[in-house]
Formats: sequence, structure tokens, C-alpha cells
Amino acid sequence: MMAAFIFSWVYLRRVLSFRNISTCMRFYSGNLISSRNQIKIFGVRKYVSDVNSFTWRTHTCGELRSEHVGQQVTLCGWVQFHRMGKFITLRDGYGVTQLIIPEKSPVGYLMKNLSLESVLKVEGTVVQRPLEEQNKKMATGEIEVEVVTADVLGKSKPNLPFNIRDFQKVKESLRLMYRYLDLRTSNLQKNLRLRSNVTMKMREFLCKHHGFVDIETPTLFRRTPGGAQEFVVPTHSPGKFYSLTQSPQQFKQLLMVGALDRYFQIAHCYRDEGAKADRQPEFTQVDIEMSFTSADRIKSLVEGLLQYSWPKEASNLSTPFPKLTYKEAMEMYGTDKPDTRFDMKIIDVTDIFKNQNIEIFDKVLMNKENSSIKAIVIPKGALHINKSLLEKFEEIGKCLYSLEGLVNIFVKEDLNWKSILCKHVSLELQQKLKKNLELQPHTLVLISAGETRNVLQLLGKLRVECAAYLQSKGLNIWNPKDFNFLWVVDFPLFLPSDEGGLEPAHHPFTAPQEQDTHLVYSNPAAVRSQHYDLVLNGQEIAGGSIRIHSSELQKYVLTDILKEDLTELQHLIEALESGCPPHGGIAIGLDRLMCILSGASSIRDVIAFPKSLDGKDLMSGAPAKISDELKKFYFIQTPPSN
Ligand code: ASP
Repeated sequence: MMAAFIFSWVYLRRVLSFRNISTCMRFYSGNLISSRNQIKIFGVRKYVSDVNSFTWRTHTCGELRSEHVGQQVTLCGWVQFHRMGKFITLRDGYGVTQLIIPEKSPVGYLMKNLSLESVLKVEGTVVQRPLEEQNKKMATGEIEVEVVTADVLGKSKPNLPFNIRDFQKVKESLRLMYRYLDLRTSNLQKNLRLRSNVTMKMREFLCKHHGFVDIETPTLFRRTPGGAQEFVVPTHSPGKFYSLTQSPQQFKQLLMVGALDRYFQIAHCYRDEGAKADRQPEFTQVDIEMSFTSADRIKSLVEGLLQYSWPKEASNLSTPFPKLTYKEAMEMYGTDKPDTRFDMKIIDVTDIFKNQNIEIFDKVLMNKENSSIKAIVIPKGALHINKSLLEKFEEIGKCLYSLEGLVNIFVKEDLNWKSILCKHVSLELQQKLKKNLELQPHTLVLISAGETRNVLQLLGKLRVECAAYLQSKGLNIWNPKDFNFLWVVDFPLFLPSDEGGLEPAHHPFTAPQEQDTHLVYSNPAAVRSQHYDLVLNGQEIAGGSIRIHSSELQKYVLTDILKEDLTELQHLIEALESGCPPHGGIAIGLDRLMCILSGASSIRDVIAFPKSLDGKDLMSGAPAKISDELKKFYFIQTPPSN
């Protein structure tokens, strides 16, 4: 067997030129990889059969190991570094390889005048590095490639705006301006490859294993009433506009009417709303809709989908995910997207402080309806939260929630207090608080009094701010490897609008809970919806609902409750009148999910070409002016500038 192998190898070497040997190697390396079926790129397991097929290269710059020593290889990549015409570090999207240039090789001269970041194709032999020169931190650190020939495939100009290796020190605006350079960094390579892996697994789970149909829907559409602010697109029909879809909501419901009963799409959506750290004017949703289903079935589907597509290197997801009602979430965490990686829940202390002759509290309880006194207990907070932070917290209370004053208690080592409350509360009351709040040495207690809704929201915000601050100070408030999913259910169907009426809490197509349907006609503000949100580590990453499929109810909601113009949704109403199956769905915010999953600090780090915080494309300068000719074509008038 061995003899046969040696014979055929010798024979091959005789009959094949160098190029042919490379081809042979490529074939071999393809088999090698596909036999493993997965390779790790920047720590991300990639399910590939062969990343070198159909290319000139035999291997990537992240692939060679001791087992390849002696092989002739062809690598293609960017010059990350070169030294003295002797060494080159060649980088591609998979890693880096050290190249060594033999003395007097013309490649040495070639390198002398070549700028970093130029693209090279290199042919050479894999050699073992001497033990003392092996680099354990580098995946390919055991070997180097002795260069035989090198071709410059793409010259780079010298002094690019930043050095790829130093991306962590580069300002984000510069990185966005030269995104094509930024994309070369290990950070973005890792995140975008991870994203592709996850979406590939999602497609597999939905389409291959569960019969979903991947359907693209239009993004040029008409305004959807009762939703987010949409972008309008002028047309060359005077006075007529498209709206960019804020989500495929109407289309996915129409697909159900059209008997495409298991729909899915990785959909691009647009909302013209202020930019935030976790929002972009355009974003991606994993959009799902099903007929003949229930809220619980959709939740199970999503749990299965996430479990299936979750990267092997991240900690396991255990399902089913816990559930909280909207009311419980608000009462315990002051928000409908609680971060459940840590405790510090809001505690009601109204009964403890009521009728205790403490002026600040008595005044609030007497003068305000629906008022209460609530507290959060921050372990070790007394050691780290200082006066200026407390002042900032008070300011937040005043400006955002119209709440005067925030009372604090610093619990000392010996469990005595430092607080303005000391003067006002009896020893007995102190004991009661100690017991109820389970006070420990160095705890900080923050107490707010006022309208319950505002108090909850303030303490919910401070709970997260304090936790993040303590985490940044090195306290283990949460485990950075934790992924805490939570379903939030039983949302109200409508919320009070600024104009004094009601507006949809989510969108106008959400169905009421069956037991509350009668209230739609008598007390709509009290109706609970069949909406569900999925929260991960304090961020909403998915939302969906069972939809209204009765045209009568949909008409009533739109016209009588929301006071919307029905003509804009006539097509949907007619569809509901044409045999509409009961249906529901969900949309997963892919950018946010990937941001949390990859540990990125903003969603921009998981999007190939993101907009800046103020919604601009810094690379091309969009949005940009258009010519007067185009304006005329689109009937656009620019207001005179003053
Ligand atoms: N269309 C909704 C959204 O984009 C999600 C859904 O209800 O499925 O938020």
C-alpha cells in the first residue's frame, strides 16, 4: 500500500508541472477539509466543504500547519507586514501566514517597493519553523512558507488611512468612511462570517427541516397606517409616493390568505426614526408567518430555531425560555425588556413608609393618584456609586420622569446607615427595612416616590445603569457568557396616544386575547393582546403576534378605535373577506441578535455597510444632493435656503 503510494507520488511529480502539483494539492486539501466538514475561522466554526475550490490558491492564509510541511502551496492575500525584504506576513479573511523570502530571490527586491495592503499571489513550500521561532499565538505559527514566486495582483497606495492591525484604536467615523478597509479586520471578518453561519443554519432549520418557503416581498409599497415612521420614495407621477416597507407585515399576512402557510424571509426593513445605538434606518429581520397555529407553537418554533442555529462555541441554550407577563416585567424590572442576568428587582416599600410622618413620602402619597414608594437594592453599591453618579440619577428622575428627589441609604460595614432618612425613621422601622430588603454590608438602596408608572421606569433604568457601572468596575454582576432569553407576554393591545386617543401597542393587526375580545367594544384600553416579545440580555430581539383574521374586527379596530382611513388598507380588508386562515408570526431582529451573540459593542459591527449614528453612509456621503434635472423629473421642490 505504502509502496504504491510512493510510486504514484513519484510518478505524479514527474508528469506534473509545479502548477499541476498545486492543482493536485488543492484537490487534496479540499478532501482534507471536507472530511472534517468544519473549519474554525477566527474562532468561528464554519461549515464548509472547500474554501479553496474554484480559486488559484491551494490553501487560505489561516490553514497551514505542521502536517503540511513539504507541500508546495499557492496563497493569495494582503501584505500585512514585511521586513527587510526577508519576511512577509500575508493575510486574508481566514488568518495570517508568515512567508520567508530566500536570499537573493527577486521577490526580496519586489517587496522593497511594495506598499503594505497590496495583494499578492505567492507560490512556495511549507517549512517547519525552528522550535524557538514558533509562534504559539498564531494559528499558523508552527510553519512558514518559503517563497518561490510572487505576483503582485493589486497594488495598494502607501499610507492608507489606517493600519488594519490597529483597528481597535481607530475612530469609528474613519472606519466607516473606509469600510472596505475596515472589513479586512479580524473583528468584522469574525462577525460577518458568524452572521452568515447563523442565517445559513436558520434557513436549514426552517426550509429543510420544517417546510417553510423563503419568499421575497416588495420593499416599495404604500404607507401602513398605525405603525412606525416610514421613508417615502418620490415617483414621476406628480403627488404620488411609495413608502419603503417598515416590515413585510401586510405581505406575510397576504401570503397566508394565498395558502403559502409557512413563510419565511430574511427581510430588509426601513424605519425613518431617530438613530440609536441598537437601531439603523435600515435593518434586517428574520420574518416568519404561519397559518393554523397558536402563540405557544410559534414560541416553540423560535426556541427550536435559535437552538439549532446557535454557534457551537457559545454556551448552550436551554428551552423553553422563561416567561413573564408585561405587568410582572414592569413591576419587577420597570421595563418590558428586563435584563434577567442579574437580580436587583424593584421592591415595593409603600406600606413600610406609609403613615410614618416622613414628610417627603407623605406628601407624594397624599397628593398623587396611583402613587407608590419603591426601592432597588444594589449589592456593593455603597462602595462604588459616588455622589456625582447619584446626582446624575436624580437628574434623570427629574427630567425624564418628573420625579423629585431620590432617597439613598448607604449601608455601612456594621449595618448602620448613612442616609437623610436616619433622622426620620425609628429604629424599629430600620429593622423592618433591613429584614424586608435583606440589607447586607455595603449595600446601596435607592428609593423613589411618585406616580407608580414613573417610579417603576426610573428605578428600572437605574437598576440597569448601576449594574453596568459595577460590571465596568470589575464586579461580577453578570457573566458575559450568559444568554438570558425571556418571553414577555400579555401586553396591552392599545396604549394612550399623545393626541388623547388610543394607538396600537405594536401594530394594528395584532389580535386581542380571546377572553378579552368583548372588551374591544366596551373598554379597549383594558384589552390584552396576543403579542409576544422575546428579550435577550435586556434587549428586545423578536416580536410577533397572532393576527386579527376577521375583517369585521380589523375594520372596527382601524376605524372605530384607531381612527385610521380604511381606504389605505382596503386590499387587506378584502383579503380577510376572501377566506383568511387564522395565522400568526414573529420577526427576529437579526442585527441585534448578532450583536449580542458576537459580543460586539454596536450593531454596526455586525453589518457590512452600516449607517453612522445619525443615519448617514460616511463612505459615499449618502444621503446626497440630486441634480435640478432629477428634482424636476420627480416633482420635488427644495425650500429656498435662508
Ligand atoms: N411586523 C412586526 C415587526 O416588524 C413583527 C411581527 O408582528 O411579526 O415588528
